Amino acid sequence: MFRVAARTNILRGASTRSFLSSRFASTLALIETNAEGKLEPSCLNLLDAAKQLNNPIVALFVGSKAAIGAQDLQDSVKCEGLSKILVAKDSSLDHYLPENVSPLLADLLKDEEYTHFVVSSSSVGKNILPRLGALIDNQPVCDVIKILGPTKFIRPIYAGNALATIECPQTKKLLSIRASAFPAVETGKLEGAEVAEVPFTLKDALPIEWVSANLTKTSRPELGSAKVIVTGGRAFKDKESFEKYMVPLADSLNAAIGATRAAVDNGLCDNSLQIGQTGKIVAPSLYIAVGVSGAVQHLAGMKDSGTIVAINNDPDAPIFKNADYGLEGDLFEIVPQLTEKINAA
Ligand code: FAD
Repeated sequence: MFRVAARTNILRGASTRSFLSSRFASTLALIETNAEGKLEPSCLNLLDAAKQLNNPIVALFVGSKAAIGAQDLQDSVKCEGLSKILVAKDSSLDHYLPENVSPLLADLLKDEEYTHFVVSSSSVGKNILPRLGALIDNQPVCDVIKILGPTKFIRPIYAGNALATIECPQTKKLLSIRASAFPAVETGKLEGAEVAEVPFTLKDALPIEWVSANLTKTSRPELGSAKVIVTGGRAFKDKESFEKYMVPLADSLNAAIGATRAAVDNGLCDNSLQIGQTGKIVAPSLYIAVGVSGAVQHLAGMKDSGTIVAINNDPDAPIFKNADYGLEGDLFEIVPQLTEKINAA
């Protein structure tokens, strides 16, 4: 059975309001880079959010490869309002250790010019923001999904089941930005941004040492920035069947593969694939949920996707209420047929 389901999305179609900025206000944006020093894709969305604050933007790069990031930004991103790039080249800032990066940020934010600080709501942002808030005695606003004005922001609460509008009267607004809720700024060449070095010496170092990182390498698009995601749930009984059906479907669409927590807990795939309240938050243009019931904790991570397709043999599965297109039936029959049709198209 093929059916079309309607869903409402309170964020969609809302117009972006512009507002007047203070003459001295400016936004400091911590730009994350990867191990090679290149920009993380989420920084394009972070810069869009920074633009919406309508202040001049100062981009900050930290760590021994900071200059590579600054160059990459100049070579690949067009961002109106980005007037300055700060580079804090010090190896103690590598890996964004919050114990080391937060004092630098606290120092920079002493400058009255900065009214806003933005960072992605990534593990880096989630590590740094509370510590920074404590250092400058300021309450951060986490996981912002909409900017209503220089002091008013929307963030999800209760696993995305409610949206809170926050009025932030503090002189410094510390914000973490949910990348999937903002579009990416244009790619291109950044014109006219001045680059300056920030001297940094670690004082009162805490006994923190970076040991190692175990990263899952994949040739597929990264979940956080993928345009298409196919997600498998507990309906797959083992790892072999998860891979047998999900990999060809993902290949046919050049998609990233995601999973529910039940799929991860049952050992069907790596936990880096988990989407949801305790996993990654995604909003691709197309999201195909295969054998996923649609628990609230899963919906919290994907309900802002553009078009949602659900494949499930239970007509009452909650995922259908959140899907634009529903395919009711056995996934072991539907998925190979769908993959074949996509490949033939
Ligand atoms: P199920 O709920 O078991 O659903 C399987 C679905 O597959 C069913 O709807 C069934 O009808 C369908 N199915 C079975 N066989 C077939 C078939 N042959 N063909 C077609 N369809 C079939 N979950 C997350 O996903 N992400 C999170 O981040 C997350 N965080 C959580 C945090 C907390 C604090 C808690 C308490 C829970 C969290 N969960 C999370 C778990 C969540 O509540 C659900 O248990 C989980 O999402 C269910 O995963 P599922 O849809 O794969 O499994």
